[in-house]
Amino acid sequence: SVRWGLIGASTIARQFMIDAIRAQADGEVAAVMSSNSERAKAYAHENGIPAAVSTLDALLGADIDAVYISTTNELHLEQGLAAIKAGKHVLCEKPLALTSDDARKMVAAAKAARIVFGTNHHLRNAGAHRAMREAIAAGRIGKPVAARVFHSVFLPENLQGWRITRPEAGGGVVLDITVHDADTLRFVLGDDPVEISAFTQSAGMAGGGLEDGAMCIWRFKSGVIAQSHEGFTTKFAGTGFEVHGSEGSLIATDVMTQKPVGSVLLRTASGEEELSFDREDLYTRSLRQFHAAIRGKGQPSATGEDGIWSLASAEAALQSAKTGKTVSIDPKL
Ligand code: NDP
Repeated sequence: SVRWGLIGASTIARQFMIDAIRAQADGEVAAVMSSNSERAKAYAHENGIPAAVSTLDALLGADIDAVYISTTNELHLEQGLAAIKAGKHVLCEKPLALTSDDARKMVAAAKAARIVFGTNHHLRNAGAHRAMREAIAAGRIGKPVAARVFHSVFLPENLQGWRITRPEAGGGVVLDITVHDADTLRFVLGDDPVEISAFTQSAGMAGGGLEDGAMCIWRFKSGVIAQSHEGFTTKFAGTGFEVHGSEGSLIATDVMTQKPVGSVLLRTASGEEELSFDREDLYTRSLRQFHAAIRGKGQPSATGEDGIWSLASAEAALQSAKTGKTVSIDPKL
C-alpha cells in the first residue's frame, strides 16, 4: 500500500485529495501535519486520519511513503526539499514554489533522489480536456490556429484569505489560476508557449498590491495564439475553453473546474457533434497515475517539469503586467 502524509491541513485536501487517496485500492492517509497542533488534531479527527503532527520532522519520521503538499505557496519549496531528502515521493500543489528557479531546485533534487515527483494540475485529468487533446491530435479541427480560455470565477468566501491578502504567501490570481491555464493549454494543444503579454487588475477583492483579475495573450511554438482570462471577482461568468482550427472548432463549456462536468462540442463543415468523455473524478485519476508511477509504470499525469512550465508562464505573465512588455517564457529545462 501507499501510505500518505498530508503536509498542510488544507481545504483542497479535505474537499478532494483525502477522498482521492482513499479511492485507490492501495491508498491510505496515514498522517496530517498542521503548523498548529490543535488544528492538526481537529483536522485528523474530522477526517479520520490516524496521526496528527505539528512539525515537518515528525511527519517525515512517520511510517509514510509519500507526501501531498498543500500548504500556502511560500512553504512548498522547503517542505518539498525536506520530503525529497527523507526519500518520500512528493505530490506538490501548484505553484510548485514562488519562482521557477526554486521549482527547478525541487525537481532536480527529486530526480537525483529517484523519487516520484508530481504537480497537482488537476485539469489534464478531466475527461473533457483529454477528449479535446485527442480530437486535436487526431486532426479533427485541422491545424489549430487559436485558443480561448475562460477561467474567471468567484473566489468563495471560505477561501478569501491568503490568496487575496498575502503577497508573501504567493497570493494573487496569476499564481492561483493562470498556472492551471498554462498547463491546460500545453496539454490540450500538445504545444509549449513561447511568449506572453498580460494585463492584471485589482477589481476590489484583493489587497496588498495583489491582482484579482488577469487577461493574457499567449503565443505557442506552432504559431497558435491564445487568450486566457483568470479572475476571482466574476460571480456569473461561467468557464469555458475553445480551440479553433482550419477545419473545425472545439467549444467546451463549464470545463475549467474541479468537477468532472461540462460539455465539448466539435463544429466542422459536417455539422456539430457533442464529444463523449469519461466523468471520473479528476483528482482520483491523478492519484491513480501517481500510484502507478511509484510502481514504476509511467509518470504522474503532471510532472515536475510541467509544474516548472506553468510557473515560468505565470512568472512571465506577472512580469509582463508589471513592465507593459511582452515577455518570453523559458522554463530552462
Ligand atoms: P487553505 O487556505 O485551505 O490551506 C492552506 C493553509 O492554510 C493550510 O495548510 C493551513 O495551515 C492554513 N489554514 C487552513 N485553514 C485554516 C484555518 N481555519 N485557520 C488557520 N489556518 C488555516 O488553502 P487551499 O486548500 O485553498 O490551498 C492550498 C494549496 O493548494 C495552495 O498551494 C493552492 O494553490 C493549492 N490548490 C490547488 C488546487 C488544485 O485543484 N490543484 C485547488 C485549491 C488549492 P496548516 O497546515 O499549518 O494548518
